[in-house]
Amino acid sequence: MQYVLMDLEWNGSYSKRAHGYFNEIIEIGATKLDENLQKIGSFHYMIKPVVSKKITNIVTDLTGIEASTLEDGGTFEEAMAALKAFVPRDAVVLTWSNTDLLVLVENCRFFFRRERIPFLGFYADAQAYCQPRIAADVPAGQQLGLTKAGELLGISLEGLEAHRAVDDSELTARIFAATFDKPSFEAFVKRADEDFYKRLLYKPHFISHVGNPLVKPEYLTFECPACGKTLKAQSKWRYSGRMLCADMPCSCGKKYVGRVQIKVLYDDVAVRRKLTEAKPKEETAPAKAEE
Ligand SMILES: [Zn+2]
Repeated sequence: MQYVLMDLEWNGSYSKRAHGYFNEIIEIGATKLDENLQKIGSFHYMIKPVVSKKITNIVTDLTGIEASTLEDGGTFEEAMAALKAFVPRDAVVLTWSNTDLLVLVENCRFFFRRERIPFLGFYADAQAYCQPRIAADVPAGQQLGLTKAGELLGISLEGLEAHRAVDDSELTARIFAATFDKPSFEAFVKRADEDFYKRLLYKPHFISHVGNPLVKPEYLTFECPACGKTLKAQSKWRYSGRMLCADMPCSCGKKYVGRVQIKVLYDDVAVRRKLTEAKPKEETAPAKAEE
């Protein structure tokens, strides 16, 4: 099995045709590793943008890419054809978090009118795989940046420019090789089939109303940290900051606010719960009920 670590740079602009903001890919970098994690290839492609010829300051500051840098670039279609030749059919393609993959789908939708990545057979999220093996104490919802991950592993960044696609893909490859463990990684690889795209493009949302059938009663009760009694909402549940919140005074005299965030995923529900002692301001605030 071979591995292709890929990194993209894109330029954001307004597109009439996309009915809004569009992230146009302007640079693709990839590093290919053989089954022994030895580097066997490098890929670099510059794309001359067609949606917006103006490169935003954010992109230029971050990457050093200017409109003139891309003057001799190819088209997105050509870049995809070149990648198809570079990526073996049974290779696993990896990106650091799935953001790059989503931008790639966005570009395929725009240029090919099809939400499919032509060269993708298998995929794995390098960030999701490597992060727990580098910094187990970073919460799952918090993403470890690529440069930071390299630093934590003591990987030399010599000769690499951060935020240029080829160098970022090379750094991802080094991080991947340093954390790789065959059995655990194989369990992590996904085949890019219909279900894969459905999951990828699914938009999670937060439950804003306590009456939603996905809200289980046990999500809504807490335990008083002071006396151990069960706490229930003594106010209406309000929706604030993507969380359901309610006042939860305890009979022992302590006053709390219970907060529950319920995120509806493709085939799962992610629940985050937090109990904090009520600040005097919150106690007296009139309850802004959603119901
Ligand atoms: Zn109590």
